[in-house]
Amino acid sequence: EACQAKMHGWSNMSKEDRDQFFLDRQNILVPELMKSLSAGQQCRIPNPIQTFQQAFHDYPDLMRGFHRQGFTEPTPIQCMAWPILMAGLDFIGIAQTGTGKTLAFLLPGFVHLEGQTKPRNQRRGPTVLILSPTRELATQIQTECERFSYHGIRCVCVYGGADRRTQLKKLEEGCDVVVATPGRLNDLLDSGKIS
Ligand code: ADP
Ligand code: MG
Repeated sequence: EACQAKMHGWSNMSKEDRDQFFLDRQNILVPELMKSLSAGQQCRIPNPIQTFQQAFHDYPDLMRGFHRQGFTEPTPIQCMAWPILMAGLDFIGIAQTGTGKTLAFLLPGFVHLEGQTKPRNQRRGPTVLILSPTRELATQIQTECERFSYHGIRCVCVYGGADRRTQLKKLEEGCDVVVATPGRLNDLLDSGKIS
């Protein structure tokens, strides 16, 4: 469930400023894919944010994380992803490797994870699932998750070709975010080790 995430600085950009903003960033395209709107209903894609502050003003520990890592500004895909994801809307983000997609998805994930109304011990499994096609990407994502460690959120990586028991043990020790390759995830689901 998307929680009530707070965001400051929903920018009152004019349409011209917004178009220029996208042009200045390798001509980002932001197509609306929502097909199921009834007549007269409008799904407005929020304007992009331009600073960490605009997205995460109310989450000082995330702000400290940016500072700690020496980040100066959000990457283009983060500018567009954060207002959409913080609003709890669905988002597909496509951009070159190394453009910050991991944190684009992960940080709103942390916020929604913490904002759940159902207590952790009443949820049946990990709260966040990140699926990765390859083991290499899965471990990269987990590294990023740990580097940005936030409020003790625990991240476990499960993938094939590595010791299943070690991974199970980590899952049993507690897991908020699971990063998984599909084969190993299915295996753990089928054997009832994860929900
Ligand atoms: P992608 O998933 O798009 O391939 P990554 O998420 O792996 O890219 O990010 C590449 C690197 O950039 C990582 O080391 C990450 O910590 C760093 N990074 C992410 N966001 C920013 C930012 N706003 N400013 C500077 N570096 C960033
Ligand atoms: Mg990458």
